[in-house]
Amino acid sequence: MVRPDRRPVKADWGELADLVNGRVLGPGDPGFAEASQAFNKRYASVRPARVLSAASVSDVAKAIIWARDHGMPITPRGGGHSYAGFSLAPDGLVLDLRGLDDMRIDAETGLVTVGGGTRMGALYAALQPHDLAIPLGNSDDVGIGGLVLGGGVLAVSRAFGLTCDALIETEVVLADGTVVTANATEHPDLFWACRGGGGGNFGVNTSFTFRTRPTMDSSTCLLLWHGEHARDVLIQMQEVMRRAPNLFAARLGISRAAGEDGVMSVIGQHLGPAGELREILGPALAVATPFRADIEDKDYWQAKDYLHHITSGDPFAARTRCASEPLSEAGVVAAVAAVEKWPGSGNPDGAGVALFTWGGAINQVPATATAFPHRDALFLVSMDTSWSAGDSPEVAADNLAWLSALYEEMGEFATDAAYVNFTDPDLAGWQNAYYGPNLARLIDVKCRYDPDRVFSFPQAL
Ligand SMILES: Cc1cc2nc3c(=O)[nH]c(=O)nc-3n(C[C@H](O)[C@H](O)[C@H](O)COP(=O)(O)OP(=O)(O)OC[C@H]3O[C@@H](n4cnc5c(N)ncnc54)[C@H](O)[C@@H]3O)c2cc1C
Repeated sequence: MVRPDRRPVKADWGELADLVNGRVLGPGDPGFAEASQAFNKRYASVRPARVLSAASVSDVAKAIIWARDHGMPITPRGGGHSYAGFSLAPDGLVLDLRGLDDMRIDAETGLVTVGGGTRMGALYAALQPHDLAIPLGNSDDVGIGGLVLGGGVLAVSRAFGLTCDALIETEVVLADGTVVTANATEHPDLFWACRGGGGGNFGVNTSFTFRTRPTMDSSTCLLLWHGEHARDVLIQMQEVMRRAPNLFAARLGISRAAGEDGVMSVIGQHLGPAGELREILGPALAVATPFRADIEDKDYWQAKDYLHHITSGDPFAARTRCASEPLSEAGVVAAVAAVEKWPGSGNPDGAGVALFTWGGAINQVPATATAFPHRDALFLVSMDTSWSAGDSPEVAADNLAWLSALYEEMGEFATDAAYVNFTDPDLAGWQNAYYGPNLARLIDVKCRYDPDRVFSFPQAL
């Protein structure tokens, strides 16, 4: 029975440990520190009371029932890469799913089933020998759970769709401990919600089954211009991307790091030869000569490695908007000027504005067909900043104030729609921004599958 006030009683952790096969870790236990910290060190001080390293689906179910009965906050954690540290249960129980990482690949049907705590690096390594592709991200430690439940938008998504568009079934442990399969015919509303409704809302997903597709030979580009060219290049590059085939996607970035001048960058993947890519990029290359221009043929796996994203995880924050058209010249000028005024910090990741090219296959799915609603965007406009753990609180505050001002300013040029997986804990009106036309149905699914809000966090539905 759920305790009505949901205030934790003094927990008998030994009782939980007796119920499960996985280890219950507390402060000081080997593995606790690593399993209980957020990737984003902005949340370094937020810790759960205990972490259960789940060894099985049955562990997950037993832990949920135990937590419910004891009024103990409980949160699933996959790769721990939530921008907002939402896979931590402050003073509660974290369900570390990383042990649930079995993978089954059926080369005949092309279906792949992975455990709910599988991380990207391991999944890529399993797919590569079969030369099979699922749209996945470029950071080895990001979890498949957080990625797919929020949508999952990658360099190949304009051609292959979202990660969640490749999902055909998921196993979910619900708030009452029952285990269900959700797909197009069983629990279809839950299945719909698990494709873009955001992680941690409806239950704990213990497996995901994806449809794969053959890989495609690729080419990649990394183009860098000095900041003085940012305005003209960005204006042109947006047009390039508007006209580009769906086989090509790129991140267009204006950025600055401490003590350095601004840089305009274009990094992308084309599912075609480098010669074609050079032609596509021609109009931007004609605007100004980049100081670095790497455009190279790669096979699918080399391209994935090339785009591999490494960041320290030192404190950062990001805010997003969507644009269905290129930003106007005034919008570009505003973004460039804001980056020039970045207050600085000790984090080499710096700050900037990045336009991720969306559209293509993403927009061929109706906005209400899955919970992911952003099916009309051409660009995700992502504004981010970072600072270092050694910076003073004033530096952190200046960076956050800079980001807020930039976010407000860009409201004139892009919509309020925001990407749930670039989670923004400071976003007012996050419900409509993340979910748009799908909000009401998502709330309905939440009320049916988790009526007592066993799964709760600051931006839980
Ligand atoms: C370095 C980096 C690179 C990234 N690259 C991309 C990218 O290319 N494309 C993109 O779309 N996004 C990208 N992201 C964003 C990423 O998709 C989200 O941060 C995602 O939520 C992380 O998932 P996780 O499992 O690692 O995180 P976690 O913090 O473990 O989980 C995120 C949320 O999902 C919940 N959750 C996790 N697993 C499950 C599960 N099995 N069942 C139920 N709930 C679960 C958690 O409770 C939490 O609320 C990136 C993030 C980082 C930090």
